[in-house]
Amino acid sequence: MPIIDAHVHLYPDEVNRAPAAWAIEHGEPHWAMLCTRVRKNGRPVQAFPGVDELLRAMDEAGVDRAVLQGWYWQNHVTCVAQNRFYADCVRAHPDRLSACATLHPNAGMDVVLAEIRRAVDDGLCGLGELSPHSQGFSVADETWRAVLALAGELKLPVNLHVTEPEGKNYPGKIETPLVDFVRMAKAHPRTTFVLAHWGARLPLHPELGVEARLSGNIHYDTAASPLIYSPVVAGEMLAVFGHERVMFGSDFPLFLYPQAEEQPSSMRAFADEFRTAGLSEDAQVAVLGGNAARLFSR
Ligand SMILES: [Zn+2]
Repeated sequence: MPIIDAHVHLYPDEVNRAPAAWAIEHGEPHWAMLCTRVRKNGRPVQAFPGVDELLRAMDEAGVDRAVLQGWYWQNHVTCVAQNRFYADCVRAHPDRLSACATLHPNAGMDVVLAEIRRAVDDGLCGLGELSPHSQGFSVADETWRAVLALAGELKLPVNLHVTEPEGKNYPGKIETPLVDFVRMAKAHPRTTFVLAHWGARLPLHPELGVEARLSGNIHYDTAASPLIYSPVVAGEMLAVFGHERVMFGSDFPLFLYPQAEEQPSSMRAFADEFRTAGLSEDAQVAVLGGNAARLFSR
């Protein structure tokens, strides 16, 4: 069974060369706040690797395939540029990379739905990482609802950014009320939702947890887990979530172990946490690749 990292971000050279300046020029201050920030210990929150460096990190981590997640950009133009870049990545490395498309409903319904179909024609296999709350549109937005319906029709899983209400605060953190995710999943039963960052532990929520656990179309990824829940309590979480609902995702190229003396390969270290967590064979196979293979293979 291939090992799949279901939550990886990547940017074109144009962005990597000077991320902060690029963000100002392209009107993407929220992304800049989250991704070009320096931690209190003086280290950057992430690196800006190119595709070759990603492939090396995957080799080192024993990861066979990465699912590239787009960003929840503020501008449609940026979304389109990232979708084209991801299409190029997938065309260049079809054996190693899959990719999700990003979008902004503000572009208007016809434009957004056409962009999704274009991305699918280009070989992309899902939508994400999206965030109505960060991108500033309502979960009841008409275009957004049409997007979710089309995603169901085309079998495109939708990856959504979810923040932990009880977690650490950081510059740029946006509240993402959990009830909204349950409502979306309920309103679109044919659409598969992947709630990033363990969905802020939605299945453990006192009021919403039961409904979430019964919603067969809600899945979760583990992106950035060591930063939010340290140490990883994978066994405990999986017992409640059900291992068939959880996908390993690292949030590469975010540095997941900021306290470490040497900056280790976060992808490898995090994958190793799952390999050594004492999970059952079934759980390990499902979480480290089986579930993502099932969801993202079109
Ligand atoms: Zn996220």
